[in-house]
Amino acid sequence: MWKRSGHYENYRDDMFFADEFDEVEERSMSVKPMNCPSHCLLFGGKAHSYRDLPRRIADFGRLHRYERSGVVTGLTRVRTFSQDDAHIFCTPEQIETEITALFDFIFEIYRLFGFEDIKFYLSTRPENAMGDPEVWRHAEEVLQRCLESREDLEFTIKPGDGAFYGPKIDFDVHDALGRAWQLATIQLDFQMPERFELTYVDSDGSEKRPVMIHRAILGSLERFYGVMLEHFGGDLPPWIAPEQARVLPITDAVNDYAEKVAAELTKRGLRADVDRRSEKLGYKIRDGETTKVPYLLVVGQREADDGTVSLRLRHRRDEGVLPLDEVVDRIVNAVETRSLKL
Ligand code: ZN
Repeated sequence: MWKRSGHYENYRDDMFFADEFDEVEERSMSVKPMNCPSHCLLFGGKAHSYRDLPRRIADFGRLHRYERSGVVTGLTRVRTFSQDDAHIFCTPEQIETEITALFDFIFEIYRLFGFEDIKFYLSTRPENAMGDPEVWRHAEEVLQRCLESREDLEFTIKPGDGAFYGPKIDFDVHDALGRAWQLATIQLDFQMPERFELTYVDSDGSEKRPVMIHRAILGSLERFYGVMLEHFGGDLPPWIAPEQARVLPITDAVNDYAEKVAAELTKRGLRADVDRRSEKLGYKIRDGETTKVPYLLVVGQREADDGTVSLRLRHRRDEGVLPLDEVVDRIVNAVETRSLKL
Protein backbone atom coordinates (compact mmCIF):
# COMPACT_ATOMS: atom_id res chain seq x y z
CA MET A 1 0.00 0.00 0.00
CA TRP A 2 2.79 2.43 0.86
CA LYS A 3 4.45 1.76 -2.49
CA ARG A 4 1.21 2.38 -4.26
CA SER A 5 0.49 5.60 -2.38
CA GLY A 6 3.98 6.97 -3.07
CA HIS A 7 4.84 7.14 0.64
CA TYR A 8 7.46 4.41 0.30
CA GLU A 9 9.19 6.37 -2.40
CA ASN A 10 8.81 9.88 -0.97
CA TYR A 11 8.20 9.57 2.74
CA ARG A 12 10.08 6.42 3.77
CA ASP A 13 12.64 8.27 5.91
CA ASP A 14 9.85 9.53 8.16
CA MET A 15 8.24 6.10 8.67
CA PHE A 16 8.81 3.36 11.24
CA PHE A 17 9.50 -0.06 9.72
CA ALA A 18 9.71 -3.42 11.47
CA ASP A 19 13.36 -4.54 11.72
CA GLU A 20 12.63 -7.94 10.25
CA PHE A 21 11.85 -8.41 6.58
CA ASP A 22 8.84 -10.73 6.38
CA GLU A 23 10.23 -13.64 4.30
CA VAL A 24 6.86 -15.33 3.85
CA GLU A 25 4.97 -12.27 2.66
CA GLU A 26 8.15 -10.97 0.98
CA ARG A 27 7.66 -7.49 2.31
CA SER A 28 8.58 -5.31 5.26
CA MET A 29 5.88 -3.92 7.49
CA SER A 30 5.40 -0.34 8.64
CA VAL A 31 3.01 1.52 10.93
CA LYS A 32 0.98 4.23 9.29
CA PRO A 33 2.26 7.81 9.27
CA MET A 34 -0.90 9.09 7.53
CA ASN A 35 -4.52 8.00 7.09
CA CYS A 36 -4.81 8.95 3.41
CA PRO A 37 -4.00 5.59 1.77
CA SER A 38 -6.44 3.67 3.99
CA HIS A 39 -9.15 6.19 3.14
CA CYS A 40 -8.44 5.64 -0.56
CA LEU A 41 -8.92 1.90 0.00
CA LEU A 42 -12.20 2.63 1.81
CA PHE A 43 -13.46 4.84 -1.00
CA GLY A 44 -12.28 2.41 -3.68
CA GLY A 45 -14.01 -0.54 -2.00
CA LYS A 46 -17.36 0.61 -3.29
CA ALA A 47 -18.85 1.92 -6.54
CA HIS A 48 -19.77 5.62 -6.43
CA SER A 49 -22.12 7.78 -8.43
CA TYR A 50 -21.57 11.54 -8.83
CA ARG A 51 -24.70 11.87 -6.68
CA ASP A 52 -22.82 10.36 -3.68
CA LEU A 53 -20.16 13.03 -3.82
CA PRO A 54 -18.68 14.72 -1.88
CA ARG A 55 -17.85 11.74 0.29
CA ARG A 56 -16.11 12.71 3.54
CA ILE A 57 -14.18 10.26 5.73
CA ALA A 58 -13.01 11.38 9.19
CA ASP A 59 -10.42 9.51 11.26
CA PHE A 60 -8.71 10.07 14.61
CA GLY A 61 -6.50 6.99 14.07
CA ARG A 62 -3.12 6.95 15.81
CA LEU A 63 -0.20 7.83 13.55
CA HIS A 64 3.54 7.28 13.90
CA ARG A 65 6.24 9.37 12.29
CA TYR A 66 9.95 8.98 12.69
CA GLU A 67 10.79 12.49 13.83
CA ARG A 68 14.53 12.78 14.49
CA SER A 69 15.47 12.96 18.18
CA GLY A 70 16.81 16.50 17.71
CA VAL A 71 13.44 17.92 16.64
CA VAL A 72 11.14 16.12 19.10
CA THR A 73 9.84 18.65 21.64
CA GLY A 74 7.24 18.45 24.41
CA LEU A 75 3.72 17.93 23.11
CA THR A 76 4.25 19.98 19.98
CA ARG A 77 6.44 17.58 18.03
CA VAL A 78 6.05 13.93 18.94
CA ARG A 79 6.49 10.57 17.26
CA THR A 80 2.98 9.29 17.79
CA PHE A 81 -0.17 11.37 17.68
CA SER A 82 -3.77 11.61 16.50
CA GLN A 83 -5.08 14.15 14.05
CA ASP A 84 -8.62 15.35 13.50
CA ASP A 85 -8.02 14.11 10.02
CA ALA A 86 -10.47 13.87 7.15
CA HIS A 87 -10.38 13.19 3.44
CA ILE A 88 -12.98 14.54 1.08
CA PHE A 89 -13.53 12.82 -2.25
CA CYS A 90 -15.32 15.16 -4.64
CA THR A 91 -15.79 16.13 -8.27
CA PRO A 92 -13.47 18.84 -9.70
CA GLU A 93 -16.48 21.19 -9.78
CA GLN A 94 -17.02 20.75 -6.04
CA ILE A 95 -13.49 21.78 -4.98
CA GLU A 96 -14.20 25.48 -4.44
CA THR A 97 -17.43 24.91 -2.48
CA GLU A 98 -15.72 22.32 -0.29
CA ILE A 99 -12.74 24.54 0.42
CA THR A 100 -14.93 27.57 1.14
CA ALA A 101 -16.93 25.45 3.61
CA LEU A 102 -13.67 24.29 5.20
CA PHE A 103 -12.51 27.88 5.67
CA ASP A 104 -15.77 28.65 7.49
CA PHE A 105 -15.37 25.54 9.62
CA ILE A 106 -11.77 26.41 10.53
CA PHE A 107 -12.62 30.02 11.42
CA GLU A 108 -15.56 28.89 13.55
CA ILE A 109 -13.34 26.51 15.55
CA TYR A 110 -10.43 28.95 15.91
CA ARG A 111 -12.77 31.67 17.14
CA LEU A 112 -13.82 29.35 19.98
CA PHE A 113 -10.23 29.22 21.18
CA GLY A 114 -9.60 32.91 20.60
CA PHE A 115 -6.88 32.33 18.00
CA GLU A 116 -6.89 35.64 16.19
CA ASP A 117 -3.40 36.08 14.85
CA ILE A 118 -3.56 33.46 12.09
CA LYS A 119 -1.12 33.41 9.19
CA PHE A 120 -2.02 31.77 5.89
CA TYR A 121 0.43 30.08 3.57
CA LEU A 122 0.00 28.64 0.12
CA SER A 123 2.69 26.02 -0.46
CA THR A 124 3.45 25.11 -4.05
CA ARG A 125 5.10 22.29 -6.01
CA PRO A 126 8.19 20.80 -4.32
CA GLU A 127 11.24 19.14 -5.92
CA ASN A 128 10.08 15.57 -5.28
CA ALA A 129 6.54 16.22 -6.59
CA MET A 130 4.56 13.41 -8.18
CA GLY A 131 2.44 13.95 -11.25
CA ASP A 132 1.91 16.29 -14.15
CA PRO A 133 3.16 19.90 -13.60
CA GLU A 134 0.09 21.14 -15.51
CA VAL A 135 -2.24 19.45 -13.01
CA TRP A 136 -0.19 21.01 -10.22
CA ARG A 137 -0.51 24.46 -11.73
CA HIS A 138 -4.27 24.07 -11.95
CA ALA A 139 -4.53 22.90 -8.32
CA GLU A 140 -2.40 25.82 -7.13
CA GLU A 141 -4.62 28.23 -9.03
CA VAL A 142 -7.78 26.83 -7.41
CA LEU A 143 -6.31 27.21 -3.91
CA GLN A 144 -5.05 30.70 -4.67
CA ARG A 145 -8.49 31.72 -5.94
CA CYS A 146 -10.10 30.42 -2.73
CA LEU A 147 -7.65 32.46 -0.64
CA GLU A 148 -8.13 35.59 -2.74
CA SER A 149 -11.90 35.37 -2.56
CA ARG A 150 -11.82 35.92 1.22
CA GLU A 151 -11.78 39.60 2.03
CA ASP A 152 -9.43 40.80 4.78
CA LEU A 153 -7.27 37.75 4.39
CA GLU A 154 -3.63 38.07 3.44
CA PHE A 155 -1.50 35.09 2.58
CA THR A 156 2.09 34.29 1.77
CA ILE A 157 3.24 31.90 -0.94
CA LYS A 158 5.85 29.33 0.10
CA PRO A 159 7.37 28.12 -3.16
CA GLY A 160 8.30 24.42 -3.20
CA ASP A 161 6.85 23.72 0.24
CA GLY A 162 3.84 21.65 -0.89
CA ALA A 163 3.32 17.96 -0.08
CA PHE A 164 4.68 15.55 -2.68
CA TYR A 165 1.14 14.79 -3.87
CA GLY A 166 -0.30 18.30 -4.10
CA PRO A 167 -0.26 21.97 -3.06
CA LYS A 168 -1.63 23.03 0.32
CA ILE A 169 -2.87 25.87 2.49
CA ASP A 170 -1.47 25.97 6.02
CA PHE A 171 -2.83 27.95 8.93
CA ASP A 172 -0.26 29.02 11.52
CA VAL A 173 -1.25 30.32 14.93
CA HIS A 174 0.99 31.99 17.51
CA ASP A 175 1.39 30.98 21.12
CA ALA A 176 1.89 33.24 24.17
CA LEU A 177 5.64 33.39 23.39
CA GLY A 178 5.02 34.50 19.80
CA ARG A 179 6.15 31.23 18.25
CA ALA A 180 4.28 30.12 15.12
CA TRP A 181 2.74 26.64 14.99
CA GLN A 182 1.06 25.02 12.04
CA LEU A 183 -2.25 23.45 13.02
CA ALA A 184 -4.87 23.40 10.27
CA THR A 185 -4.08 22.30 6.77
CA ILE A 186 -6.03 21.91 3.52
CA GLN A 187 -4.32 19.92 0.78
CA LEU A 188 -5.49 19.27 -2.71
CA ASP A 189 -4.54 15.94 -4.20
CA PHE A 190 -4.91 14.72 -7.77
CA GLN A 191 -2.23 12.03 -7.44
CA MET A 192 -3.52 9.59 -4.88
CA PRO A 193 -6.90 9.01 -6.62
CA GLU A 194 -4.83 8.24 -9.73
CA ARG A 195 -2.54 5.79 -7.92
CA PHE A 196 -5.45 3.99 -6.26
CA GLU A 197 -7.48 4.14 -9.50
CA LEU A 198 -10.45 5.68 -7.73
CA THR A 199 -13.49 6.41 -9.85
CA TYR A 200 -17.08 7.59 -9.80
CA VAL A 201 -19.75 7.39 -12.46
CA ASP A 202 -20.63 10.83 -13.81
CA SER A 203 -24.09 12.03 -14.96
CA ASP A 204 -23.32 11.00 -18.57
CA GLY A 205 -22.44 7.47 -17.46
CA SER A 206 -18.67 7.88 -17.95
CA GLU A 207 -16.07 6.95 -15.32
CA LYS A 208 -14.25 9.90 -13.78
CA ARG A 209 -11.48 10.44 -11.22
CA PRO A 210 -12.50 12.12 -7.99
CA VAL A 211 -10.32 14.80 -6.42
CA MET A 212 -9.09 14.20 -2.89
CA ILE A 213 -8.88 16.95 -0.28
CA HIS A 214 -6.85 16.24 2.84
CA ARG A 215 -7.79 18.40 5.78
CA ALA A 216 -7.14 18.77 9.50
CA ILE A 217 -8.54 21.57 11.65
CA LEU A 218 -6.90 21.15 15.04
CA GLY A 219 -4.10 19.16 13.40
CA SER A 220 -2.21 16.86 15.76
CA LEU A 221 -4.25 16.81 18.98
CA GLU A 222 -1.05 16.57 21.00
CA ARG A 223 0.37 19.65 19.33
CA PHE A 224 -2.95 21.43 19.65
CA TYR A 225 -3.02 20.81 23.42
CA GLY A 226 0.55 22.11 23.71
CA VAL A 227 -0.19 25.25 21.69
CA MET A 228 -3.52 25.79 23.46
CA LEU A 229 -1.90 25.60 26.92
CA GLU A 230 0.75 28.12 25.85
CA HIS A 231 -1.83 30.31 24.14
CA PHE A 232 -3.93 30.61 27.30
CA GLY A 233 -0.89 30.60 29.60
CA GLY A 234 -2.71 27.80 31.44
CA ASP A 235 -5.77 30.02 32.12
CA LEU A 236 -8.19 27.75 30.31
CA PRO A 237 -11.64 29.15 29.51
CA PRO A 238 -14.44 27.79 31.76
CA TRP A 239 -15.71 25.27 29.18
CA ILE A 240 -12.26 23.64 28.88
CA ALA A 241 -10.96 23.92 32.48
CA PRO A 242 -10.76 20.43 34.03
CA GLU A 243 -12.00 21.85 37.34
CA GLN A 244 -14.46 24.63 36.61
CA ALA A 245 -15.38 25.68 40.14
CA ARG A 246 -14.08 25.00 43.64
CA VAL A 247 -15.94 25.60 46.87
CA LEU A 248 -13.81 26.87 49.77
CA PRO A 249 -15.36 26.48 53.25
CA ILE A 250 -13.90 29.03 55.72
CA THR A 251 -14.28 26.60 58.65
CA ASP A 252 -15.08 22.92 59.03
CA ALA A 253 -18.40 23.96 60.53
CA VAL A 254 -19.74 24.87 57.08
CA ASN A 255 -18.46 21.78 55.26
CA ASP A 256 -22.01 20.49 54.83
CA TYR A 257 -23.11 23.69 53.14
CA ALA A 258 -19.97 23.58 50.93
CA GLU A 259 -20.91 20.05 49.85
CA LYS A 260 -24.43 21.25 49.07
CA VAL A 261 -23.05 24.07 46.90
CA ALA A 262 -20.77 21.64 45.03
CA ALA A 263 -23.70 19.24 44.52
CA GLU A 264 -25.72 22.11 43.06
CA LEU A 265 -22.93 22.86 40.57
CA THR A 266 -22.46 19.18 39.67
CA LYS A 267 -26.19 18.76 39.14
CA ARG A 268 -26.01 21.46 36.47
CA GLY A 269 -23.28 19.53 34.66
CA LEU A 270 -20.28 21.48 35.98
CA ARG A 271 -16.98 19.99 37.14
CA ALA A 272 -16.74 21.16 40.75
CA ASP A 273 -15.01 20.13 43.95
CA VAL A 274 -14.71 21.18 47.61
CA ASP A 275 -11.42 22.05 49.29
CA ARG A 276 -12.07 20.15 52.53
CA ARG A 277 -8.62 20.66 54.03
CA SER A 278 -8.40 22.38 57.42
CA GLU A 279 -6.22 25.15 56.03
CA LYS A 280 -6.50 28.92 56.32
CA LEU A 281 -8.72 30.59 53.73
CA GLY A 282 -5.78 32.58 52.28
CA TYR A 283 -3.94 29.31 51.60
CA LYS A 284 -6.95 27.77 49.86
CA ILE A 285 -7.46 30.84 47.69
CA ARG A 286 -3.79 30.89 46.66
CA ASP A 287 -3.97 27.21 45.83
CA GLY A 288 -7.12 27.75 43.72
CA GLU A 289 -5.36 30.59 41.89
CA THR A 290 -2.17 28.68 41.15
CA THR A 291 -4.10 25.63 39.93
CA LYS A 292 -6.01 28.10 37.73
CA VAL A 293 -9.55 27.17 38.71
CA PRO A 294 -11.79 29.78 37.01
CA TYR A 295 -14.35 30.16 39.82
CA LEU A 296 -13.71 30.03 43.58
CA LEU A 297 -16.81 30.01 45.77
CA VAL A 298 -16.01 30.98 49.37
CA VAL A 299 -18.58 30.02 52.01
CA GLY A 300 -18.75 30.87 55.74
CA GLN A 301 -21.50 30.80 58.35
CA ARG A 302 -23.24 33.90 56.98
CA GLU A 303 -23.36 32.40 53.43
CA ALA A 304 -24.64 29.09 54.83
CA ASP A 305 -27.44 30.91 56.69
CA ASP A 306 -28.43 33.05 53.68
CA GLY A 307 -27.98 30.51 50.85
CA THR A 308 -25.28 32.68 49.23
CA VAL A 309 -21.63 32.37 48.19
CA SER A 310 -18.76 34.83 47.97
CA LEU A 311 -17.52 34.62 44.39
CA ARG A 312 -13.90 35.07 43.29
CA LEU A 313 -12.93 35.03 39.63
CA ARG A 314 -9.50 33.73 38.62
CA HIS A 315 -6.85 36.48 38.72
CA ARG A 316 -9.48 39.06 39.63
CA ARG A 317 -10.90 40.64 42.73
CA ASP A 318 -13.73 39.49 44.84
CA GLU A 319 -17.12 39.77 43.12
CA GLY A 320 -18.87 39.97 46.50
CA VAL A 321 -21.59 37.90 48.12
CA LEU A 322 -24.25 36.67 45.69
CA PRO A 323 -27.22 34.31 45.80
CA LEU A 324 -26.12 30.73 44.98
CA ASP A 325 -28.64 30.37 42.12
CA GLU A 326 -27.29 33.47 40.43
CA VAL A 327 -23.69 32.25 40.62
CA VAL A 328 -24.57 28.80 39.28
CA ASP A 329 -26.50 30.34 36.37
CA ARG A 330 -23.58 32.61 35.59
CA ILE A 331 -21.07 29.74 35.45
CA VAL A 332 -23.42 27.51 33.44
CA ASN A 333 -23.96 30.35 30.98
CA ALA A 334 -20.21 30.94 30.54
CA VAL A 335 -19.67 27.23 29.90
CA GLU A 336 -22.62 26.76 27.55
CA THR A 337 -21.75 29.76 25.40
CA ARG A 338 -18.10 28.64 25.43
CA SER A 339 -17.18 32.12 26.51
CA LEU A 340 -13.49 33.04 26.71
CA LYS A 341 -14.31 35.33 29.62
CA LEU A 342 -15.31 34.35 33.17
ZN1 ZN B 1 -4.17 12.91 4.10
